Order: sequence, then structure tokens, then C-alpha cells
Amino acid sequence: MIRLAKQIIPKKTPVPEQLPAERIKNYDEVIQGYTTEQAMAEANRCLGCGRPLCIAGCPVNVNIPAFLNLVARGDFRGAVNLIKETNSLPAVTGRVCPQEQQCEGRCALSKRFESVAIGRLERFVADWEATRSSTLTPEIPPPTGNKVAIVGSGPAGLTVAADLAKKGHQVTIFEALHEAGGVLVYGIPEFRLPKVIVRREVENVCRLGVKLVKDFVVGSASTLDELLEEYDAIFLGTGAGLPWFLNLTGENLNGVYSANEYLTRANLMKAYLFPEYDTPIVRGRRVATIGGGNVALDSARTALRLGAEESIIVYRRSRAEMPARIEEIHHAEQEGVRFELLTTPVSFYGDQNNWVKEIECVRNELGEPDTSGRRRPMPIKDSNFRIPVDVVVLAIGQSPNPLIPKTTPDLRISKNGVIVIDNETGKTSKKGVFAGGDVATGGATVILAMGQGKIAAKAIDLYLKTGQW
Ligand code: FAD
Repeated sequence: MIRLAKQIIPKKTPVPEQLPAERIKNYDEVIQGYTTEQAMAEANRCLGCGRPLCIAGCPVNVNIPAFLNLVARGDFRGAVNLIKETNSLPAVTGRVCPQEQQCEGRCALSKRFESVAIGRLERFVADWEATRSSTLTPEIPPPTGNKVAIVGSGPAGLTVAADLAKKGHQVTIFEALHEAGGVLVYGIPEFRLPKVIVRREVENVCRLGVKLVKDFVVGSASTLDELLEEYDAIFLGTGAGLPWFLNLTGENLNGVYSANEYLTRANLMKAYLFPEYDTPIVRGRRVATIGGGNVALDSARTALRLGAEESIIVYRRSRAEMPARIEEIHHAEQEGVRFELLTTPVSFYGDQNNWVKEIECVRNELGEPDTSGRRRPMPIKDSNFRIPVDVVVLAIGQSPNPLIPKTTPDLRISKNGVIVIDNETGKTSKKGVFAGGDVATGGATVILAMGQGKIAAKAIDLYLKTGQW
């Protein structure tokens, strides 16, 4: 129950942001973060509920009321240390977690007013720490002699690597790309998550003695069985990097990208830094992105920054069903992204040189909820219309790459291609091999990948100590 003794401040303390007209001309971070005074004022809005629900709303159960209390008193060191007991990447999660569905969605204030800005405060203390030199490397116990291979350096792999290194195990991360961080570097754009933050987190993990081997594709350069000859246990955190397609006529026209390719070219290969980086990417005047999640919103906003005059989201349900973070939808609207809602593409048309020129779409109405719990889009008869385009980005979902399962016959995968794990331990069907994150859930969230990493790290440690599977 809300205690009324404390004066309720109904709205979140506003956070400084770049203005929309300015920010679409650059790739710098949109939200600039709280000042010390703003952070303390915002933390003071917490009601200090007797039975706080926000903790259960956080997938890694950060003690939110206690950290807010420390921020309100100006003890930022205490606050960041408290968060890091359960969340090793607060500068990342503070920026990208869907807080409205998690901690902030459960905040007692949110029933009648705006919730406490928990994400912005998490980010504030993490950034505060980064500007202080005393980012301490924890003491590491003597080496256990056990060797662990981590495949993939996204949030799941980094979490497992850090937790096991802190237990004295010798950890090596194998990463297919030339930069570590997974989706945090190749997917989520700089204007939402500056790469300097990801690099800092990777360095922190390496400072624990973790070895990082880049440009190494497990399943090709080495199979899991070959790795098991050298390592006592393996964690697979290979994510869900295989894009889905619509299987529509014209989908293979020039100018049609998967979001995965479009964002990798823009972010990891730095197409946004042209002419310093001359990465090929088609900079259309009219760009349509198909989908309604974070990946779609990131693509549509990237298109604007690459010079598109018109960036359009084509989404088959209504705004209320969009899976993207509310803040991203809001920012995209402010920046002028046009939303064609309740709309499904049915065909793509090209010119004589096979460059995409039009999308044919149908309008939908919403029917009964489907298995996802969201109302099903139902096409309206004779509602076909066309949208002129130069570039199309498909952001309709992704699943794990089948390379490792294909080269590891005794690794069980489900019908939709995810690796089957025991949710309590992260154990796969293969002895000594654990998995977690998007490779086990399908495309999900950073904090869920980290949460599964924590569970697997604990189980790997136990397995190494007891040898019991
Ligand atoms: P990944 O981050 O996918 O990392 C997997 C790593 O494994 C990659 O580096 C890959 O190169 C490597 N790898 C793959 N196969 C091999 C191999 N065979 N050998 C060696 N290495 C390999 N989540 C949020 O919570 N909030 C957001 O706002 C958000 N926005 C997103 C925006 C985009 C554009 C995308 C694509 C995703 C977004 N997500 C967001 C989802 C989130 O990023 C993922 O859920 C999360 O990164 C999954 O972490 P992971 O460690 O399981 O895998």
C-alpha cells in the first residue's frame, strides 16, 4: 500500500536529451543522463514501500529500494557496488532494459503516477563510477587448474566469463567477430548505447584474467568436441544472429536488407562515419523497416541518421502491441519516423535493374489474441496499397545460427532451432556443455541473457568442483 507520509512527486525528473532536429544529424547518444542533483531528486521520489514489488520485476533481482536510498543520500559508490552484486553491466542495462515491463512497471507509483526512473538512476551511478579511477579489480582466488571455454562474447558470455574467473577458473572466450560485445556492439546503435561503454565492460572482464580470442568461429575453426579435449567445460552464448525473412516475392531485390546486415554495416563496420569509413551501404531516400521491436526501431532511426528523407515503420499490429521499448517508440516519433500500423507487406516490386521500388501492403484489423497473448492481425479485404521505397529493412525476428548444432550431433535443439537447456543449470544434452542467453531463448533481452549466464556460471563451478553431471 502507498504510504502517504511522503510527498508524492507525480512525474519523473526530466532527463536532458539532444533535440530531435539536431540528433538525427549525428550518431551521439540521445539521452545525456542526470546531473548529481537531478539523480538525488529522482531517487527521493521512491516511496520506500514496505513490500517492494520492483525487486521481483527485475530479472536479476537488484535490491532497487536500497540502491535508490543510497543515491538519494549521495552515496553513489555504495549504490553502484550494491547493484553490481547481482548485475555486472549496469551502464548497459540502465540504458537498454525494457524497464516499463520490469522494475518500473511494478513500482507502486506507476499505478497512478509516473514510476521512479530506475533505469536512468542505474545508468547514472554506473556512469559516475566510470569517471572515477577507483574501478577496482576484485581479488581473484588462486587458480583451480580448471579450463573453461566460452563461445560468444555477448552479455551472456561476458557474465559467465566474469563469474568463473572470479572463482579462479582459467577462462577463454572465443568470438567469431573482430570485436567483443555481441549485439551490444554490432546491433544496438551508438546513439542508444555508446561503444566506449561496451569496450569498458569487456576490458573489465579481461582484467580478471579472461583470455579473449577474436575472429574464431566455433563449429568451423574448431568443433565443440575438439574444444572439449582441451577444456573441462564449455558455455555456449552464441546468441540468435540468424535473421528471419518473409518469403515474399521480390524479397531478394537489391536494396532489401535484413536488419542484422543493415545494423552491422552501420554500427560495427561504421558506415555512419563516412567518408572516414567507406563501408558500402545503400542510403535510400525512402527507407521502410518491417517490424515493431527494438531491432526495427533501431533500423528506422539509423536510416534517418544515414540521410533518409523518410523513414517508415511498417508493423502488422497497433502501437499498443509493439514489442519495442516505449522510450524508443517515443524517440522515433519525435525524430519523424512515420508509422504505418496495422499493415502487412505482401510483395516487393523492383525496377528494370532489380532495385526495390515499392512495397505492396494490406491493412489489418485486430482479431482475438493469438498464442503470444497479443491480438492477431486480420487482413482487411481489398485494402491493398503501395508504399514507394528505395531501401527495405526486414526486422521481423531472428533465431540461433545452426552452425554449432550441425557440427555437434549430440547437442539437442528444439523445433525452432534454440539449444535445449535445463533452466535451473543451463546444462545442455551434451556432458560438459552449458548454454544460455538468446541461443537458448530465441531473441530476448540483455538482462535475461545475463540472468541465464549467472545461473550457468554457478552450475559450471559446481560441475568443475564435483565432476557430477
Ligand atoms: P549476443 O549478444 O547475440 O552475442 C552472441 C555472440 O556470439 C556474438 O558476438 C556472436 O558473434 C558470437 N558467436 C555466434 N556464433 C559464434 C560461433 N560459432 N563462434 C564464436 N562466436 C560466435 N535487448 C534489450 O534488453 N534492450 C534493447 O533495447 C535491445 N535492443 C536490441 C536491438 C537490436 C538491434 C538487437 C539485434 C537486439 C536487441 N536486444 C535488446 C536484444 C539483446 O541484445 C539480446 O537479447 C542479447 O544481446 C543476447 O545476448 P547473448 O549474449 O545471448 O547473445
